[in-house]
Formats: sequence, structure tokens, C-alpha cells
Amino acid sequence: DNPTLVNNVETLANVPHILREGPDWLRATGTVDSPGTMVFTVCGDVQREGVFELPLGSPLRSLVEEAGGGAQEGRTIKAIFPGASNTVMVPQELDTPMDFDSMREVGSGLGAGGFAVFDDSACMVQAAYRYSRFLSVESCGQCPACKFGTGEATEALATLESGRGSERDIELVLVRSRSSTDGQKCALPTGESLLMQSLVQVFDEEFRRHIGADCPLPRELPFHKIVDRDRSGRFVYDVDYVHRQPDWTYA
Ligand code: SF4
Repeated sequence: DNPTLVNNVETLANVPHILREGPDWLRATGTVDSPGTMVFTVCGDVQREGVFELPLGSPLRSLVEEAGGGAQEGRTIKAIFPGASNTVMVPQELDTPMDFDSMREVGSGLGAGGFAVFDDSACMVQAAYRYSRFLSVESCGQCPACKFGTGEATEALATLESGRGSERDIELVLVRSRSSTDGQKCALPTGESLLMQSLVQVFDEEFRRHIGADCPLPRELPFHKIVDRDRSGRFVYDVDYVHRQPDWTYA
């Protein structure tokens, strides 16, 4: 029953318009339960990376294929990560409306509206490693299952990607990512659990092809930590992030 202040810039930017025009101004776009617009980000293997304001409830396809221009010439979209905190999405889900309920209904989530796209030249084990490492490094360490679980899942992914992995490493990714939420004080390990388990399930065959074998798709992937845009408008990613350590120092 208490009033709630949501001190998020995107939310607060709507307030003057709602006060001036009334709530119908917000409800003129979006869905009944997710009214208004949202600022979405699309990055990675699309022709036009960028930030786009779209009505909530717009299909994911409108962001990835219309605003983002779809995959590069000759490539096809393989996977879409809705940030680092939700389950992976596949091209068959591109018609999913980008609103909170619809994304939940397909087992994923809208999060902050950021989507990283991977095409068919991207290795899902390497992508899993980069995102798991991010969550492991950023885990603050208050909860042992979170810090150690994300760390062990990340190590298993690195072993698999190096070609020295075994069936046990795939099991480790599943078990450690799942248990990383034990005693959690915040939602960070929920992202590890959802994203890693979904990647192993959806790309099971690709994970198994890494057992004792070189990566079949060795293209170096960035971690999508955006720090700038270049002259062509593409995002610039933090190349120093690979040096950030679990104790938050830079090696
Ligand atoms: S669950 Fe949250 S509070 Fe606990 S260690 Fe992980 S990041 Fe820190």
C-alpha cells in the first residue's frame, strides 16, 4: 500500500509527460500490463548495433531484424541472450512480444531490454564462458555458493573450450550454475543458473562436440560490455575486461 519511488532515469523521463498529459499518454503505446515504450539495446552479430526506443510488446524481431538489420550478409542468427540474467532465446522465438509477461511466458525475461545476438559463426561454449566469467568476476563474494559456484562453472567452460574437457565438465557447468543460487542475497547467480543451464540444454550437441576436441567455431567473441561507439556507429567493447579478476583487480 506504500507509494513507491522508482528512481530509474528511463522511468522518471516519463513522469513529466504523465503529469502534463495524464496516464492515457503512457497507455497510448505498449500493452495493458506493460504500457509505454522501453529503450532497447541490440548488440553483437547484427548489421546495426544500437539503442532504440520501441513500444513495449513489440516483437523481438522488430528490434533484431528491423532496427538491428538482422544478421550480417551470408550469416544466420543462432542465439539471442537477453542480457546476462535470463535464458537464451533462439530464432524461432523472434515473434515473442517484448513485454514483461510475454518474455516470462517463453521462459525468459525482459530484464533491462538489452539483447546480444550471436550468428551461426559463434561458438556457444565460448559465449557461455564469457558470460559466466562476467557473472563470476562481478559476484561480490558475500555468498560462498555464488562466488565459488560461478567460478567453478566458468573454469569448466574454459576447459571445454580449450578442447581438454570431458562429460564431467558439462555436468559441472550444470550442477555449479544451478547450486550457485544457494543462500543468494541478490539475483546475480539466478542469471548464471538460468543462462548456463539453458545454453547447455539448447546447444547440447555443440557442447558435446567440444569433449576432447578443438572448438569447431574458433572465432574470438567479445564480452558485450559496451564502453563507446566508433565512427561507423558500432559499439566498442571493453577490451580490458578479460584482465579483470574475481577480486576486482586488473591483472
Ligand atoms: S548472491 Fe549477490 S550478494 Fe551474494 S555473493 Fe552473489 S553477488 Fe554477492
